[in-house]
Amino acid sequence: MSETWACNCIGPQNGQPLCPCQMRGVVERDGRYVRPEQDLGPVPSKMEQELRKIFNDLSSNQEPLGEPFQSIWDASIEDMYEQ
Ligand SMILES: [Zn+2]
Repeated sequence: MSETWACNCIGPQNGQPLCPCQMRGVVERDGRYVRPEQDLGPVPSKMEQELRKIFNDLSSNQEPLGEPFQSIWDASIEDMYEQ
């Protein structure tokens, strides 16, 4: 850490390790200030990837989705947005 603050602000406040403008992305975990690695979202499960592939294939073939597949797809989409 440098002695100067690029942001020209007041420096760490309230026992925090960084000045407020640098506390973005810092979280408290187990009593420690930590800056977690960037989370860009969940990786689709193998099943989701397979379903997407099947869905794309079906779409490109202009075939209607069967009832069983549609329900699996809906459940998969729901799971995806719940996470
Ligand atoms: Zn600052």
